[in-house]
Amino acid sequence: MTVPRIALAAFMLESNGHAPPATRAEFEASCWLEGDALAADLARPAPRAPTALTGFIRAMDGGRPWAPVPLVAAAAGASGPIEQDVFDDLLLRIEHGLRAAMPLDGVFLSLHGAATATVEVDPDGVLLARVRAVVGPDVPVIATLDLHANVSRAMVDHADVLIAFVTNPHVDMAERGAEAAAAMRAMLGGMRPRAGFVKLPMIPPATSQNTDCGPYADAIAHGRGFLDHEVLNVSISSGFSLGDTPKNGLSVVVTTRTDAARAQAVAEEIARFIWSSRGRWVANLLPLEETVRRAKAVGEDARAPSLLFADVADNPGGGGRGNTVWILEAFHAAGVRGAVLGVFNDPELAAEAHLLGEGARFTAHFNRAETHPLSHAFTAEALVEALHGGRITGRRGIYAGREVDLGPMALLRIGGLRVAVATHRRQLCEPAMLECLGVDLGAARSLVVKSRGHFRAGFDEAFTPDRILEVDVPGLTTVVLQRVPWRQVPRPIWPLDAAMEWAP
Ligand SMILES: [Zn+2]
Repeated sequence: MTVPRIALAAFMLESNGHAPPATRAEFEASCWLEGDALAADLARPAPRAPTALTGFIRAMDGGRPWAPVPLVAAAAGASGPIEQDVFDDLLLRIEHGLRAAMPLDGVFLSLHGAATATVEVDPDGVLLARVRAVVGPDVPVIATLDLHANVSRAMVDHADVLIAFVTNPHVDMAERGAEAAAAMRAMLGGMRPRAGFVKLPMIPPATSQNTDCGPYADAIAHGRGFLDHEVLNVSISSGFSLGDTPKNGLSVVVTTRTDAARAQAVAEEIARFIWSSRGRWVANLLPLEETVRRAKAVGEDARAPSLLFADVADNPGGGGRGNTVWILEAFHAAGVRGAVLGVFNDPELAAEAHLLGEGARFTAHFNRAETHPLSHAFTAEALVEALHGGRITGRRGIYAGREVDLGPMALLRIGGLRVAVATHRRQLCEPAMLECLGVDLGAARSLVVKSRGHFRAGFDEAFTPDRILEVDVPGLTTVVLQRVPWRQVPRPIWPLDAAMEWAP
């Protein structure tokens, strides 16, 4: 009996067009696994490989026998554009792996969809085109995408099925992988799906894109209303505005079993619905001065409900440096008490704290080696309260059950504040990132997270939505889009050109 042989690969990077390039070392610190090493990782209880990939595999394992052919999984979260030679090398490895593995019955790719390279503006499209060129037109090529994918025509044309995450925070990654597995099984059974695609000239602020309620939730509910025996999948990708690429923008991809005209008509109808709701996709930020006032107040009143302040403009999950000190500096100057802030990406400071040891007092110099102008230096007297190696297993939200490596970490006490410092740039969206340092989140009066929104699925035990405030400070991931020095986004585009008209 022959079993279907399915090649597996992942390329997950969200590129901020204004952040320094993503290097091979950055991928390696997060996930760059090939062949046997990838197979071994996938067999671990807490793998590093992307959750959409592990979800796909688990669902395939639940069905008839199949033969996975693991090629490469490269994932770096969010950073700047991938260095072109690193991307070219990855392409070659995937291409060689595919050629060596032929004949194949299918290819599954876990993609983000908002990568850029330092030269190429659409690496996801190039990768899909290259895969298609190797396997030919008849082998199913199915990919999952992040909800923040900037979908291009090339991506749609070279894949048979694209399935984007539906939730933000992305707690459905495994489920979408399983949906891709179901589509793969259907294609192995002879289905030849069709896609409709509409790109809207719309880059809504990132903080307007939560899917629990609001305009995005309504768009998704509207889109899912079209699912039936013919419409297999509706993917509404809000896009990653700060990619600053010609393919920026919200997109709708609709996949049908056979009917191309229906797919396109449904995509256009959903696009019209979203366009008419554009005035609701707005950011609602708290000025720094008011943030300090609120933090000081809860710090001095043990009975007041604790608050979570999101430093949405310095989100490593969107390519932020994870080290701006606007809030830290202001809290310190104002004498805020009972606040926990993190995670600051400062390898030099973390290394110094490890050298000095727990209990040491020293003058902490933040950002001594950083050159980005928005990440200025900050100096304060500090006590090393706790140290940790930084390898944690996530317990909630997007990192649940996955290993994350932050490198050597330190918890510094600075006046009434406690500041978590790490060696690798990661967004604070997982309580284990603080609990490993002995932080009791229930006892903190306020928590400042460097994260745009994924923290909502990690810190929901301690902070209900009414106790979460999004702060307006400068940063590479600001949601005040009028402040971004745009270079490549197509114009006109909403909300930068607020008065524009458009129809699909
Ligand atoms: Zn995303």
